[in-house]
Amino acid sequence: MVNRDSYDAMLAAVQAFHDKHDFKNTGGEELTYRIALMTEELGEIAEAVTKGKSREVLAEEVADLFILLFGTAIAADFDLKQAFWEKMEKIMQRESRMVNGRIRVSEFRDS
Ligand SMILES: [Mg+2]
Repeated sequence: MVNRDSYDAMLAAVQAFHDKHDFKNTGGEELTYRIALMTEELGEIAEAVTKGKSREVLAEEVADLFILLFGTAIAADFDLKQAFWEKMEKIMQRESRMVNGRIRVSEFRDS
């Protein structure tokens, strides 16, 4: 039984999915196609929220996108874990401000 808590196990599971269907040689790792797939899943997340679907449905759609994100890292050959932590370090340094009644964390260029 694999340790399902680890990033490496998740990445390996997605790699196994890609290998099972030979995504590398069948267009499944073309980045423009992956953008379409990720957009589709984001649309399904939006639908789950705006149509008031259950938390289970929302979780499944978010998982679909999460799997695609791992797969995009595989397809584009970058280290998603490293990119994640580098980005987290950056955004933890950023300022926040209220914009139209909601908090926004960004590199505000006017400050
Ligand atoms: Mg879906």
